[in-house]
Amino acid sequence: MELIGDYHTHTVYSHGEGTIRDNVEAALKKGLKEIAICDHGPGHFLYGVKKKNIPLMRGEIDRLNEEYAPKGIRILLGVEANLIGYDGTIDMDEDLIKMTDILLLGYHYGIIPNSLYDSFGMYVRNPLSKVLPLGRERMIELNTQAFVRAINRYKIDFITHPGSKARVDIRALAREAAKVGTALEINSKHSQLSVESIRIAMEEDVDFVVNSDAHKPEEVGEVRVALERAKAAKLPLERIRNIRL
Ligand SMILES: [Zn+2]
Ligand SMILES: [Zn+2]
Repeated sequence: MELIGDYHTHTVYSHGEGTIRDNVEAALKKGLKEIAICDHGPGHFLYGVKKKNIPLMRGEIDRLNEEYAPKGIRILLGVEANLIGYDGTIDMDEDLIKMTDILLLGYHYGIIPNSLYDSFGMYVRNPLSKVLPLGRERMIELNTQAFVRAINRYKIDFITHPGSKARVDIRALAREAAKVGTALEINSKHSQLSVESIRIAMEEDVDFVVNSDAHKPEEVGEVRVALERAKAAKLPLERIRNIRL
């Protein structure tokens, strides 16, 4: 069994510790064939990538690809975009999306929501629903719907740590994700997808990915924890896009 690529790594362009080159070097040492640089989307006011840096990252990655192609590794530019509205809006414009090779979508705090309604939902209702049962089901429905709208509006390769920070109806999300070819991530840093969520999601026709979510170069390619959860759920490993058996 071989990990082909790690498609979720952060660099100094958001709040990772390494440069793009540092992550590539680390990936090369681990024998990966591909690595994606996916810093946090620009809507994150603490550590989102600056919009003006995305073209610079594109240039840097193009140059690194020329340098590293003979060594057998390909570098992809991506972004871990943020959901910023319940209508499925994400914090990436079409012109920025065109510059990327891969697009991830996650739910994070610290973003600037699209509207007052979205702010209330994301910063008041959603956290409250985790402690108070009242309205919890409705919140799960709204969160799930937001993801489903987003994956239908944009070409999202996979959803990062689904269920982390915002509860979702994992079965419904898996079903809709399968229809549009979006995979669900089993993340080594976050406890989602959990073993139980994987078991539910795998009953639908959806694909999976395992990623490190590395914030330091030495974490690149470290997917052991994610793989253990996949195995505990008895997920057939051929359903994981970045694993070759
Ligand atoms: Zn994330
Ligand atoms: Zn991340």
